[in-house]
Amino acid sequence: MLVPVGDVPSTGALPTQRQGAGAAADSMPETASWEWSPGSQELRWHEPMRAVLGMPSAEPEDVQAALRELIDPILLGPRCPGEVIDLEHTLRVPRRADRRFKIHAQWMAGYRSSAPVLGGTVTDITNANEGSTPSELRDRYRLLVELSPDAIVVHCEGEIVFANRAAVDIVRAGSVDDLIGHPVLSFVAAQSRAGMLERIADMSESDTYSEPAEAILQRVDGTTVVVESTSVRTRWADKPAFQAILRDLTHQRAAETSLRLSANLIQHVSDAIIALDVDGRISSWNPAAAALYGWEAGDAVGLPIDALLGADASGGSLLAMARGTRAELTHRRRDGSAVHVIVSIADIRDPAGAVSGSVLISADVSERRKAEQIRQQADARYSAAVAALDEGLLIIDVDDRVETANPAALVLLANLGLVGERFSSATALMDEDGRPLSAETIGLEEARQKGTARPAFTASLQRHDGSRTYLSVSIRALPTESGDGPFPVVMCLLDVTDRHAAAELLRFEARHDHATGLANRNLVLETISDLLRTPDMPVGVLFVDLDRFKMVNDSLGHDAGDAVLRTIARRLAYEAPAQSTVGRLAGDEFVLVVPDATVGEMQALANTLLSRLCEPVRILRRDLVVTCSIGIVVTEPGAGQGVRGRTNVGATDVLRDADVAMYYAKQHGRNRLATFDERFRRRAVDRLALEEDLRHGLDAGELSPAYQPIVELQGMVTTAVEALARWTHPRRGPVPPTVFIPIAEETGLIAPLGRLMLTRATQQVADWRSSGTVPDLVMSVNLSPRQLADPHVADRVSELLAARNLPASALTLEITESALMDDPELAAQTLTRLRNLGVGISVDDFGTGYSSLSYLRRFPVTSVKIDRTFVESLGETRDDDAMVAGIVNLAHTLGLKVVAEGVEKESQRQTLTDLGCDYAQGYLFSRPLPAEALTPLLGRS
Ligand code: C2E
Ligand code: CA
Ligand code: CA
Repeated sequence: MLVPVGDVPSTGALPTQRQGAGAAADSMPETASWEWSPGSQELRWHEPMRAVLGMPSAEPEDVQAALRELIDPILLGPRCPGEVIDLEHTLRVPRRADRRFKIHAQWMAGYRSSAPVLGGTVTDITNANEGSTPSELRDRYRLLVELSPDAIVVHCEGEIVFANRAAVDIVRAGSVDDLIGHPVLSFVAAQSRAGMLERIADMSESDTYSEPAEAILQRVDGTTVVVESTSVRTRWADKPAFQAILRDLTHQRAAETSLRLSANLIQHVSDAIIALDVDGRISSWNPAAAALYGWEAGDAVGLPIDALLGADASGGSLLAMARGTRAELTHRRRDGSAVHVIVSIADIRDPAGAVSGSVLISADVSERRKAEQIRQQADARYSAAVAALDEGLLIIDVDDRVETANPAALVLLANLGLVGERFSSATALMDEDGRPLSAETIGLEEARQKGTARPAFTASLQRHDGSRTYLSVSIRALPTESGDGPFPVVMCLLDVTDRHAAAELLRFEARHDHATGLANRNLVLETISDLLRTPDMPVGVLFVDLDRFKMVNDSLGHDAGDAVLRTIARRLAYEAPAQSTVGRLAGDEFVLVVPDATVGEMQALANTLLSRLCEPVRILRRDLVVTCSIGIVVTEPGAGQGVRGRTNVGATDVLRDADVAMYYAKQHGRNRLATFDERFRRRAVDRLALEEDLRHGLDAGELSPAYQPIVELQGMVTTAVEALARWTHPRRGPVPPTVFIPIAEETGLIAPLGRLMLTRATQQVADWRSSGTVPDLVMSVNLSPRQLADPHVADRVSELLAARNLPASALTLEITESALMDDPELAAQTLTRLRNLGVGISVDDFGTGYSSLSYLRRFPVTSVKIDRTFVESLGETRDDDAMVAGIVNLAHTLGLKVVAEGVEKESQRQTLTDLGCDYAQGYLFSRPLPAEALTPLLGRS
């Protein structure tokens, strides 16, 4: 409770009011009285209390609070009436200098025996110290100096005699003892010593001081510090001394530097930095602002910002922009053009925190915006292109979710709700054969973890209608920002169903013969390989080769040949047991592969085929009989298992063996079968070696003709010679023509050999004729079936004769009966041309074939050579004699001459002469001899 004193009656004796003389003297009241009763908690006071407390216009509450602070300590003590208490107290008043008061109080007996009452006075003694003693003063001063935040040192005669705490700190000393007694110059950096001494010298009189100057102090730890130093001349122990006050400038320097830096920055940054006053007028405009907007600082400063730059299209003032945010705006340049900028604005505040303006930062983003637009446009185009692709594209994130998928991908995968789903569970990708694929097996997981790419592979999908779509799938990891996995993955899908079907067709075609639809060599080999791998299963193979198919082809044309092949293929397929594979290897070679077959079964099958295949084939309105030769091979069970990994070699082995067997069947007279035997192989190998040698021998000139005379039986004179090929192999020795001629015939080497024989023989007969040995000697040269089929043979003969200047009658060509039968039409053609030249035509080995003499009428033949086998038995059986006689007679009626071959005995010669045979040839007369050996014998007879 507060009661102005004037309103209450006096409550007994109050301490004497000391209206001090001092107070009166400067009319400043020094003392005011007060009274406090604990019972009523009343604190009364009297004016001039406000003035004494130094708060002349304070509210009563504030006065009471100040008063309570002064007297509270008394209330804590004993409360004995009559007790006098004196104490001093400093009052702290915000934003005012501290004031010190003396309180004089006394406890007094209470009114009507109530509790004692405290009464007293307050005296302002703040300025009372002016009258203090010098020692008190020094103490105060020392305290002041000690606690000063500025470093203060006193030096006398060059030595430090006093230093305060701040001085110890500024030089980083441990205690004041590190300074006292030390030369003051030891704490001054060398470059500052001269300046310091100069300043001291200027202070000659007491109480003079130096202007603040910068100096560099040398610290105890070796570092330096820049300070502002002010010195005062004073006295210490009755000697002249200097007191230096040092203020650390480090922070100030830093602040200055940063200020300079900021200023510099503002000058050189590329962003426009514009300072505005509270009204939005420009107060600062940096060079970047000038460059951006086209206004120089001189023109811009002082103008309102909104008017200068043009408010944003939204109409808002720049000043209204939210602080701390950025906005993209369109401003106007001095030339009126628009510029896209990013703007931010911040308030500038004065030290008291009040807004004193704002700063605007503006950056040109036209380029960036343009680039952004281009990028957005490119993005849009790219997206459109991806959406239009026929290829499906999917991006699958690191969690296996489909992030995006273009329309083609959704269609290809037949899953329109794929996006957002887990790829691996939402698609039913399968491999080409319909086995399910997983993220691991397609390499998706690896791409995701390791960042790898998987080249295209074929996968498939089952459609609802049961059809299958084939997709070419490739997978590639997309880069991540960090470069580390896991990686998102892009998957490319391409519909390759058509391509797949085409490939399947190709695959079929690659394994089948176009003409007959049968398996081709590849598939046959594959089939045999597969069967060979089956344990405990013998594999039977029939190698079927048509006899004289070439003849059909050559004489009737390829269409007819193909028709024959198709017929044979049909018959083979018809006769083939279930499970077997029928194939055509090449030309007229067919194969039957029969799993799990015995030799007996295969032979029975071959026999069936032999009779079935040679049934007439009706082609071009004629019935053609095509026979075949069959080779049989049956493998040991599991034969292929030892050669796993090179199974095709196993299959080719089997096929080759069947071929060899077929060859033997053919050798032994065609239209037969032969079952493979190990010896076949050896012979085949031998034959192969011989073939090589023959080829080489022809080149090396190892072959040459021998000549055997043909004697006219009537006059017993040599009228002709037969040229017979001779081959002396350097190692093998003489190789008989019965061995090498068939090989030459088969391999085609007969062509060069035939040319050699014709060339040498015509040369030789020309020599013999011209040398007069036998002027009308005839040369007989054997013509092989192949030579007969050569359409150029007549021309070549004609050229040769012309070159040798020989009449055509000097040459007779011998053609075996079987060669005539192989292809009668072709033979007739060639022979006619030859005969037309005038060349003699002789049918060799007559009687061994099926031809009859009357059949020979179809050919322009001039003579027949009765085969040796008939001559051999002459005179032994009547039958043969009769037969030879028949031949001679018939031949003569046809106008043909008859030659007998292999005449070894005189008796044979005699019989032949008796039977009317025209000529004879044989060892009886001469063996075939080299030309030089024969020449001397020719003249004689
Ligand atoms: P070929 O044309 O019937 O020849 C007659 C064969 O009878 C020759 O056998 C000859 O040496 C042999 N010979 C002759 N007189 C007698 C005899 O009194 N007794 C016996 N046992 N044999 C006699 P060679 O020279 O071994 O020729 C065999 C076959 O080889 C020939 O039979 C012929 O078909 C073929 N040949 C030989 N040289 C050629 C050739 O240059 N071209 C062609 N295409 N075939 C040839
Ligand atoms: Ca002959
Ligand atoms: Ca003959």
